[in-house]
Amino acid sequence: MRENLTYERFGGAIRELAQTIADDGYEPDVVLSIARGGVFVAGGLAYALDCKNIHLVNVEFYTGVGTTLEMPVMLAPVPNAIDFSEKKVLIADDVADTGKTLKLVRDFCLETVAEVRSAVIYEKSQSLVKCEYVWKRTDDWINFPWSVEPPVVRREGQVLDA
Ligand code: 5GP
Repeated sequence: MRENLTYERFGGAIRELAQTIADDGYEPDVVLSIARGGVFVAGGLAYALDCKNIHLVNVEFYTGVGTTLEMPVMLAPVPNAIDFSEKKVLIADDVADTGKTLKLVRDFCLETVAEVRSAVIYEKSQSLVKCEYVWKRTDDWINFPWSVEPPVVRREGQVLDA
């Protein structure tokens, strides 16, 4: 079984997720996105929550469908923890699966920030981080609209007008 998220469904999911956060009274100073999937989520949430401060952290973990490195690793440049000190941070990602990626980033934030909460579109039951804000729960592999298709390649014979 696959869970298929389309760009159309994504638009509604982000608004609903943001509404849940707003209804809860959480007003983040910073949205911290986990690249690359979390960038879409962070951008949508930041607009919907009227938060103009977005940061990004790159984490590498998955190498294919269900195959991972031993542990997730933060890639350089790692954001400066000072930027988050005394701030309310909302970590945004596409899915908490094992939850190891979110845990790595949350633990990094917890060293300095005033408050950290996490928002994801999907959370799987095995996740070791229980996110404060979840749009939908599933245990299926999810096809996201940004990664379901292979990267584009240059077509032969294409000449672009100058
Ligand atoms: P975790 O550390 O929670 O196991 O996984 C975090 C990252 O792995 C996600 O941000 C996502 O990039 C990737 N990932 C985990 N599960 C899925 C899935 O079901 N579908 C897709 N497309 N990516 C996933």
